[in-house]
Amino acid sequence: MSTTLTHAAEATGKKSQQAPATLPKPDGDFYQIIECLSEQERAIVKRVREFMETKVAPVITKYWAEDSFPFGLVPALRELNIEGLGYEGYGCRGGSTLLAGFVAMEMARVDSSFATFFGVHSGLAMGSIYLGGSEEQKQKWLPPMARLEKVGSFGLTEPLVGSGTGGGLTTTARREGDTWVLNGQKKWIGNATWGDVTIIWARDVADNQVKGFIVENKTTPGFTVEKIQNKIALRVVQNGLITMENCRVPEENRLQADASFRDTAKVLRMTRAFVAWESTGCAMGAYEHALAYAQTREQFGKPIAKFQLVQDLLAKMLGNVTAAQCMVLRLSQMQDQGKLLDHHASLAKAFCTVRMRETVAWARELFGANGILLDYQVARFFADAEALYSYEGTREMNTLIVGKAITGLSAFV
Ligand SMILES: Cc1cc2nc3c(=O)[nH]c(=O)nc-3n(C[C@H](O)[C@H](O)[C@H](O)COP(=O)(O)OP(=O)(O)OC[C@H]3O[C@@H](n4cnc5c(N)ncnc54)[C@H](O)[C@@H]3O)c2cc1C
Repeated sequence: MSTTLTHAAEATGKKSQQAPATLPKPDGDFYQIIECLSEQERAIVKRVREFMETKVAPVITKYWAEDSFPFGLVPALRELNIEGLGYEGYGCRGGSTLLAGFVAMEMARVDSSFATFFGVHSGLAMGSIYLGGSEEQKQKWLPPMARLEKVGSFGLTEPLVGSGTGGGLTTTARREGDTWVLNGQKKWIGNATWGDVTIIWARDVADNQVKGFIVENKTTPGFTVEKIQNKIALRVVQNGLITMENCRVPEENRLQADASFRDTAKVLRMTRAFVAWESTGCAMGAYEHALAYAQTREQFGKPIAKFQLVQDLLAKMLGNVTAAQCMVLRLSQMQDQGKLLDHHASLAKAFCTVRMRETVAWARELFGANGILLDYQVARFFADAEALYSYEGTREMNTLIVGKAITGLSAFV
């Protein structure tokens, strides 16, 4: 596959019908929402873009095809110093959640797997400790995670309980003196096959409340992880099936500020906003690839971009991308102002992933048969979008959260 790093529009006179040897021009910010960031913040986004374009883009299709993770890129990611964006102190990058959103979009614009790996670690795992940990727990765990010396996972979903985790978790936690004994299984847990710590959400058998535990993957007896095989989306992310058999975890590893599933939901509120940005980035990347392809692919002696129906597809894609960008922009402004509620994040997650799914399908369509070849990138966007659509709450779950908020009536069964 291609390792050339120029943008398509810079490759003048290109007539080849082969897989493009270039990245598409970053044309997907039509309303220039980047101008909502300060100069300093824009410089950070630019560094992330350079990292994604020069380090990730050249190799990611190979890793996707191999169903493996590019561990060699972790040191370069560490140098970007963007772990813990939006969290103050504890060695974290700090800054606004708006900036964190732009970073998520920028990553997914090139690759949603990489954005997911980052989101699981920096959002779900570090966020659980930042929001639910005691001062001592934050001091202990967040600095090494911010330096990527310890990679984190988030274990909520179970083989038999996905959408219904709020009331239905079957993983149990039983207290024995200063120790908790965990039993159960967790499915789909990103980074768990190779990471260092997993936040395990389990039901306390004494009070029936969900509690969070910081579990050390590699040193906790009874904690095993099996890699989930044969995925057709986000193949670069390593998802694990965790089995816990009488795992003993000290009380000091129980998230001290968390008391029930409401606290788990606080983490999901934050990370659903992140996924809304991520899906916007996925749609943006697919649109940019489609635009570049339309300008170079010729049929009937003309670039296909000259055909009205192709322009219609491109304009519809750009409309979706721009609508999603404006939505997540305001979402993060509300988050930074402390106004974000669960239903705000749920509406954005549901809306942006639906629009993304439509956009990547149109992008794939525009590539014709080449759209099903990994070589042309857009097939990867098309496949990965399916996972973004389903994780962090399906469209149905997020819709029910919005429905309850706007009608005052819960339609959850
Ligand atoms: C690539 C990937 C990575 C993931 N990473 C993680 C991770 O790191 N950590 C983690 O904890 N989880 C992770 N997940 C799990 C993810 O959050 C769940 O898959 C998701 O919450 C949906 O649960 P489920 O797959 O069990 O589907 P189910 O809950 O079985 O749902 C199946 C279908 O039924 C619908 N449905 C269910 N209940 C209702 C209802 N009441 N009304 C209407 N429709 C309903 C759903 O919307 C869905 O369409 C990941 C998933 C994927 C695909």
